[in-house]
Amino acid sequence: MNGILVVAAVQDGRIKRSSLEVLSRARVVAADLGVACDAVVLHPDAAGFAAELHEYGASTVFAVSNPIFSTHVNTPVLAGLEAAIARVSPRVVAAASTEAVKDVLGALAVRVDAAVLPDVASFSASADAVTGERPVMAAKMMAETSTTHPRVLVTVRSGSYEATKAPVQGTVQEVDFAFNDDSLVQTLKEVVRSATDTVDLSEASVVVAAGRGVRDETGRQLVQDLASTLGAAIGASRAVVETGLFPATAQIGQTGKVVSPDLYFAIGISGAIQHAAGMLNSRVIVAVNKDPDAAIFQYAAYGLVGDLFKILPLLDAELKSVVGS
Ligand SMILES: Cc1cc2nc3c(=O)[nH]c(=O)nc-3n(C[C@H](O)[C@H](O)[C@H](O)COP(=O)(O)OP(=O)(O)OC[C@H]3O[C@@H](n4cnc5c(N)ncnc54)[C@H](O)[C@@H]3O)c2cc1C
Repeated sequence: MNGILVVAAVQDGRIKRSSLEVLSRARVVAADLGVACDAVVLHPDAAGFAAELHEYGASTVFAVSNPIFSTHVNTPVLAGLEAAIARVSPRVVAAASTEAVKDVLGALAVRVDAAVLPDVASFSASADAVTGERPVMAAKMMAETSTTHPRVLVTVRSGSYEATKAPVQGTVQEVDFAFNDDSLVQTLKEVVRSATDTVDLSEASVVVAAGRGVRDETGRQLVQDLASTLGAAIGASRAVVETGLFPATAQIGQTGKVVSPDLYFAIGISGAIQHAAGMLNSRVIVAVNKDPDAAIFQYAAYGLVGDLFKILPLLDAELKSVVGS
């Protein structure tokens, strides 16, 4: 039986935390089955990431190096993954459930003849089947899906597992890969980051999220100040995105992004289930809300009941003095 191949995504010159989380889980599943846990990287200098992946337990790092991978364009990414899978012939391919992976997942499954367990919160494997659990109906229920297909693609929601080190003496193997740019029917001209995107929301260890209670430009500035003090990414509820105060890219929840930071501030957010679906994996939740019965307090480890326009300046000043020291 072949092993597990983890797709390790690179962003801003580093392996994404969500990929290391998947690798940390995959190496445990592989060890239980007595099979290899390897990783594949697509990057202009893919082999340069091998040492970090060995630290997290990848035995062999398959490096698919090509300048085309400096930005995400789906055709070459698809071809690169297909080449790596043909070379390794893994039983399970596991990846973080990122936008880039979602972009190629369906086509990849067809090309490598695989079943797909998408967006799972946990996965396991036995000799016969691969099983994934994922939240459904706005995270009110968990659905368990198993497949006995000989090849399975699993994508894992960020924050589902801890990224933990388990160093191995691994090897690196280059995968032959050539890509003719002329064959591209689409070209990526520019990647535009939104103004709030100084820290990547889905990878951030601290998120400050704003709700409709933030109300206006003064509130937005208070949220911005707190995020700057903490080096946090800025998120938002759908209700406040709809007012135009925050961009749609900041939306967290069922129809927005899923985040899993160590620390999540919910500022003027009621805690509707559709919002909670995107942030319940946060390790510590702090809520600021003037309504003591707001649902968000059910999820919060720390709750501040009061007017955010009064609390945020005090909180920011206090945190500045701590962060500054
Ligand atoms: C199919 C579907 C999908 C959805 N997807 C999403 C999604 O992905 N993400 C999402 O967020 N929502 C989503 N929603 C919407 C969701 O149901 C809620 O309407 C939304 O999350 C509410 O946002 P909110 O908490 O900011 O606003 P509200 O529910 O209006 O809450 C505002 C909160 O701010 C507090 N507040 C007001 N003023 C102050 C103040 N001065 N100081 C302190 N607190 C104050 C209030 O007490 C209140 O609790 C979806 C809905 C549907 C039907």
